[in-house]
Amino acid sequence: MDAKTCMEKLKLVGVLSFATVDSKGNPQIRCISAIHFDNDNLYFFTARGKNFCQELLENGKVQILAYTRFKEMIRLSAKAVPAPDSEQEEKINRIFSEQPYLANVYPGDTRKIGIIFEVRNAEIEYFNLGVNPIFRESYILGAGTISEKGYCIADNCIGCGKCQRSCPQRCIVQGKPYHIQQEHCLHCGSCYENCPVKAVQKRGGK
Ligand code: SF4
Ligand code: SF4
Repeated sequence: MDAKTCMEKLKLVGVLSFATVDSKGNPQIRCISAIHFDNDNLYFFTARGKNFCQELLENGKVQILAYTRFKEMIRLSAKAVPAPDSEQEEKINRIFSEQPYLANVYPGDTRKIGIIFEVRNAEIEYFNLGVNPIFRESYILGAGTISEKGYCIADNCIGCGKCQRSCPQRCIVQGKPYHIQQEHCLHCGSCYENCPVKAVQKRGGK
């Protein structure tokens, strides 16, 4: 798996969920199919009067989520910015030609209330629950950065093996200290709760 393949899968899913946080701190999520993929970039259409647009203009933070029929979760933690003015009309027309139903939603010139946002930079999380053991990996789009999540085992591990026995994915390897195979970890926390000496620690400082 890689970033490019993840983007191809998003394209195949077609309708993606976009999550932001509103001015009151509440989560807001909506499904969008008015999307155009161009090389590694993603463009999407919304209307300037929507709260979604205002939330994006505030700080651009958005999470974009897809779930495939193969039980793959693909999530982009991204920064969305308005596409350059010189590209707005062309991108709106392109998305409308790729999604003919939009002409029914915004007939004629009413599409001019639209705005195109683009995503060039993102962290991509790929999480496949349809394989055994499960598989996860993170990739970067553009100048995105990867945030560490899950758990790791510190040097004060005494090698008792309790974490290994309680791990649903059997992804903890014996050693000094024991070691978590991050690509197969669920982030479930069972090892964390079962370690008698607190050698299992959360990654990313949380
Ligand atoms: S978090 Fe869960 S899946 Fe990951 S190593 Fe610990 S017990 Fe195993
Ligand atoms: S439960 Fe804790 S001390 Fe025991 S092997 Fe696992 S990490 Fe090491």
